[in-house]
Amino acid sequence: MSAMIQQQHLDAARLNRMVDFRSDTVTQPEQGMRLVMAQAEVGDDVYGDDPTVNLLEQRFAETVGKQAAVLFPTGTQSNLAAILSHCGRGDELLAGASYHTLVYEAGGASVLGGVSCCALPVQDDSCVSPDDVTAAVKPDDPHFPRSRLLCLENTVSGTAIGLERLKEVSDRARQHGLAVHLDGARLFNAAAELGVDVSELASIADTVSVCLSKGLGAPAGTMLACNSELEPLVRRNRKILGGSMRQSGIIAAAGLYSLDNNVDRLVEDHRRARSLASKLDNLVEHKDVRVAQNTNMVFLTPDPGDHAALCDHLEENGFLVTRKAPAMRFVLHLHHTDSDIERFAAAIRSFYGLLH
Ligand SMILES: *Cc1c(COP(=O)(O)O)cnc(C)c1O
Repeated sequence: MSAMIQQQHLDAARLNRMVDFRSDTVTQPEQGMRLVMAQAEVGDDVYGDDPTVNLLEQRFAETVGKQAAVLFPTGTQSNLAAILSHCGRGDELLAGASYHTLVYEAGGASVLGGVSCCALPVQDDSCVSPDDVTAAVKPDDPHFPRSRLLCLENTVSGTAIGLERLKEVSDRARQHGLAVHLDGARLFNAAAELGVDVSELASIADTVSVCLSKGLGAPAGTMLACNSELEPLVRRNRKILGGSMRQSGIIAAAGLYSLDNNVDRLVEDHRRARSLASKLDNLVEHKDVRVAQNTNMVFLTPDPGDHAALCDHLEENGFLVTRKAPAMRFVLHLHHTDSDIERFAAAIRSFYGLLH
């Protein structure tokens, strides 16, 4: 059942009292963020007149070590604008079979760009392998689309992929003349987990997209960074996709606030995710349950026969979760407290008849 349908049969007041583990996209702007949004200096960004947008774009480009950055309304649109900036009709992109760009973006690259998509196997470390890239690149022959772009992702379902691994794959793609796009919707989570600077992780790609609207807590906005040569094309593609906004400094102010206040604290989400996973640890010994944790996500795979009842039980106890099966995904974010985690773990354990 989709999250939207799930919400319809929970009344809004009850929803607001529930502790929400569905995603880090559910985070709401806190008071300080709302204040800077209300006070933001703005202008018409299509004319380049919005000082707050300009500041955010400059600041973000510096943060990820690229020459330019462009503010987009969403990550889906920024990924598509990046693809359109690297590929034309009849070109092909390669991406991990489970990656967001292939699975959750409504086939936009094909629908709007005439770009075909080649799915690569995703390895145990959530990356794609250099040899699979080589095997997928098509020879110059009229039978085939032109292989143009490799789309990588970090984190992948919460899993942070290390710099060396990404370099290896990206280098291989470049040897074949491909451009590299990194869907770094949660790139700051990856950097926090790996203890490396976000600019190092970004250095393996020509274009990098990072969401402000997930764990960083902004209500909207994704940054797409690139070099200055590509920037005009990225802006043109944003215009084509309808993503150029006017007084978007109100959104950019939230983005600046999130970079100032909500990056360093991501390790808190990871710590709470580890703590939740450890509280569920001995379910694995006693019950037919699997538990995994990566950065701010915890995955619990119950026996398929228990799945619906466990979801109902959590909902009845005031916790909002997606009903995705077989693995349930719990996402930690800035609204959660240590006590939420205690109570949530206790609710799961009580479902299995464990009191402590
Ligand atoms: C959320 C997400 C996106 C898309 O972001 P939206 O702002 O929801 O369109 C892209 N890639 C990954 C990996 C994501 O998690």
